[in-house]
Amino acid sequence: MGGVTDVVVVGSGPNGLAAAVILARAGLAVTVVEAAPTVGGGARSAELVPGFRFDLCSAVHPMGVASPFFRAFDLARHGVEMLTPEVSYAHPLPGGRAGLAWRDLDRTVDGLGVDGRAWRRLFAPLVRRWEGVVATAMSDLRGPPADPVAALRLALRVVEQGGPTWGLRFRGPVAPALVTGVAAHTIAPPRRLVPAGAALLLATLGHAGGWPLPRGGTQVIANALVEDLRRHGGRVVTGQRVDSLAELSQARAVLLDTSPAELLRLAGDSLPQHYARWVRRFRYGNAACKVDFALAGRVPWSAPGCELAGTLHLVGTRAEAVAAEDEVARGRHAERPYVLAVQPEAVDTNRAPEGRATLSVYAHVPHGSTVDVTPAVIAQIERFAPGFRDLVLDHHTVTAANLRAHSANYVGGDIAAGAVTPWQMVFRPVPRWDPYATPLPGVYLCSASTPPGPGVHGMAGLHAARRVLRHRFRITTDPLELLRRE
Ligand SMILES: Cc1cc2nc3c(=O)[nH]c(=O)nc-3n(C[C@H](O)[C@H](O)[C@H](O)COP(=O)(O)OP(=O)(O)OC[C@H]3O[C@@H](n4cnc5c(N)ncnc54)[C@H](O)[C@@H]3O)c2cc1C
Repeated sequence: MGGVTDVVVVGSGPNGLAAAVILARAGLAVTVVEAAPTVGGGARSAELVPGFRFDLCSAVHPMGVASPFFRAFDLARHGVEMLTPEVSYAHPLPGGRAGLAWRDLDRTVDGLGVDGRAWRRLFAPLVRRWEGVVATAMSDLRGPPADPVAALRLALRVVEQGGPTWGLRFRGPVAPALVTGVAAHTIAPPRRLVPAGAALLLATLGHAGGWPLPRGGTQVIANALVEDLRRHGGRVVTGQRVDSLAELSQARAVLLDTSPAELLRLAGDSLPQHYARWVRRFRYGNAACKVDFALAGRVPWSAPGCELAGTLHLVGTRAEAVAAEDEVARGRHAERPYVLAVQPEAVDTNRAPEGRATLSVYAHVPHGSTVDVTPAVIAQIERFAPGFRDLVLDHHTVTAANLRAHSANYVGGDIAAGAVTPWQMVFRPVPRWDPYATPLPGVYLCSASTPPGPGVHGMAGLHAARRVLRHRFRITTDPLELLRRE
């Protein structure tokens, strides 16, 4: 690695960079080593088609503005402009109408007709205490909630929406589809506790800070973190895959922004048997096939309002969403898959040449799928935007099996870096009080395979960095305070 270094962070995803920034701001000598030629992991963008810029993985950042890490880091202070669509997410339905989750809760309620009041009763109490909801959901899940009132409100609603009672609240078809579209982000049958939790968190943020996209693409978030790291003396080495922990023996602490499977590979025989056994039991979840489209113009959605949304959930009714996710859970490809679409041009016109547009989507597929589902994706978009097919100038598909090329952490194309079951949300990746520390002295995990799980929020990095500071370097300063300093 060369040079004196206190800490090596393996991997430059948002969690690795979050940890690196905190540790460098604490005065430690930090080096980040990244296998890919560019920094950012799941927060990278590239010109996949000449003149058209795409996010390779993450694109929309409700957690990137709401998480305690990013609120303290303050992306705006670091030159990142977040553009917030008026409609956080849209859910087109058969017959040319759509459910619209406006950032404005009142406007959403007005649009939901018979279910407007029920939507308000579901979300208004969470929106009023959104910081407490976030503090609960993005904690390390190892202590009492910071805001017990918010945590209780959230828990009651998770139980309601994640079980047999989920159909009782709403009467019409639009509101159930709208909330199910968000629950399905977890790539799991939506009537379960973790999908319900994800839906309630993300939908609450949809009415709080919104679902913003950074001007220019997600890469700007990773770049802002790297710039801050460098400003505090840190180094980043790209294009270098670490193959063994032995390569890093001079560092006093090693943080792995990797999958647990990679920890096993890097540690070789050095991990105690019982811990290695638990890590081997860690399950990876179902997957995504990503398709990026370069378009001759904006998507001609049938339903008014869809053109204002940054994110669209394309699957149809609640029953269709359940059917699609059930197929994937059984290891099969749905004929009409759940498709999550992001249209940056709702807020950012700089991703494509003038008059042209981009659309980034992914479809849910079984773990490890090698199938190119582009035809099914186009058919699903056509259902809600007839004429879409004729606008496609070019497209770029990455199957689930190949998603590992973007980040080794997405084993089998699992974009959550580990199945999101209730057990694995708490005991991620192993059942230990400190899920970040490994039995190897000074070696920590800090990726989305640790609590609080997937998303660009930097919180796994923050929780791991807090422990590294305290246990390896006897530094007790609060990481959030380090981040708030100039
Ligand atoms: C298609 C897709 C869409 C998504 N959309 C969103 C979204 O819109 N919003 C959102 O919040 N989240 C989204 N996510 C999830 C989000 O991108 C991830 O949860 C997040 O990037 C996880 O961050 P991380 O730092 O844990 O790991 P990663 O971002 O995966 O980064 C890990 C890094 O470690 C590197 N690495 C691994 N092993 C080694 C090694 N041995 N040596 C050197 N380097 C190594 C990898 O190359 C990679 O760069 C999406 C993910 C995917 C795949």
